[in-house]
Amino acid sequence: MCVTKKEKLLEVPVERKVHEDFSRIDKPFGLEQYIFNWIWLGSAHVFAAYYFYLDIAGIVPTSTLLFELLYGYIGGLGITVGCHRYWTHKTFKANKPLQILMMIMQTIANQYPIRKWSLDHRIHHKYTDTNSDPHNSKRGFWFSHMGWLFLPKHPDLQKKLKTFDMPDLENDPIVRFQSRWYWTLTAVIHFIIPIFIFRYFWGLTWIYCIAANYRRYVVSLHITWSVNSVAHLWGDKPYDKNITPVENPWVSFFAVGEGWHNYHHTFPWDYKSAELGWKINFSTMFIDFFAWLGWAYDLKTVSQKMLKERLHRTGNESHNLQQSEAICDNDTNDFDYSVPADVTQLMKDSINEPIWGWDDESIPEDLRNVTKTLRSKGIK
Ligand SMILES: [Zn+2]
Ligand SMILES: [Zn+2]
Repeated sequence: MCVTKKEKLLEVPVERKVHEDFSRIDKPFGLEQYIFNWIWLGSAHVFAAYYFYLDIAGIVPTSTLLFELLYGYIGGLGITVGCHRYWTHKTFKANKPLQILMMIMQTIANQYPIRKWSLDHRIHHKYTDTNSDPHNSKRGFWFSHMGWLFLPKHPDLQKKLKTFDMPDLENDPIVRFQSRWYWTLTAVIHFIIPIFIFRYFWGLTWIYCIAANYRRYVVSLHITWSVNSVAHLWGDKPYDKNITPVENPWVSFFAVGEGWHNYHHTFPWDYKSAELGWKINFSTMFIDFFAWLGWAYDLKTVSQKMLKERLHRTGNESHNLQQSEAICDNDTNDFDYSVPADVTQLMKDSINEPIWGWDDESIPEDLRNVTKTLRSKGIK
């Protein structure tokens, strides 16, 4: 019997059996996640505050900040480019060396394994600001910023976490490897290496080295968290006035390009996570550099015509179309990017059922056909 798409959506989702590579991270060291976070992230904040004090009091050299920023931002790119734009949203393809590099960089940031981070984030896009959203911004700034990590999960979210399917990541060998060896990798990459660098170059005592590393960690956490809090609360909504995410240049500045959040939630499959690629967006520069090397390819982006269609339908009329046309004048005439009427209707439907990324089955085929692919290698 033929099952229509609508009938398929109405089916009760089956509880997914979690592979043991992943299950160990759901209860770290046998503890409920939020209890573990109180211990782990709580002690990280105490150490970070201690190092701020040591620095302000002149007990340690302020120059450690240079390495903290360098290592912090390498980890940050592991989150923005690797975990977010590559694994969660599938906005581009990458060869194996780049995947391994991004996995190592993501481990520096220690924001849980790729698979867990991506699961939370896909659910965030699919059920934005509902009780199923891990960091529902309707529950206030502090909840969406960090409170969600320190409180038991809402029952609606618990259900989604058990049933939301991610076969692509569950079968990704690098994602599985990282989840299996997560705490060992974290001990070496996130903890031991930077601590030895503080010891070797600055001659700090071991306890000061640990505190310096925690400051680097805690600052980077708050930058990432500001995407879920600040960029859902304060800013403009030029692309879709009906959703909560906003455009916030300050968040983009600190979070290397992730603050153009109204655009990102409107077009989550765009590798730039923004309309204007290099404007306060170091993550896009990073992807473009690796695309130039040939390591990243099939970069998905939104054509000007598709953008205009959407602006006319859901924008708040604050968008400066002329400016974007001047910068993005690369819509050449070699392909017709006009959006057929039925696609416009399908995109309208996608507001009611948002799309998490390029591999989301609910993206209509016609919409795929009018999406631009840059630096394509034609590899599936
Ligand atoms: Zn996203
Ligand atoms: Zn968001």
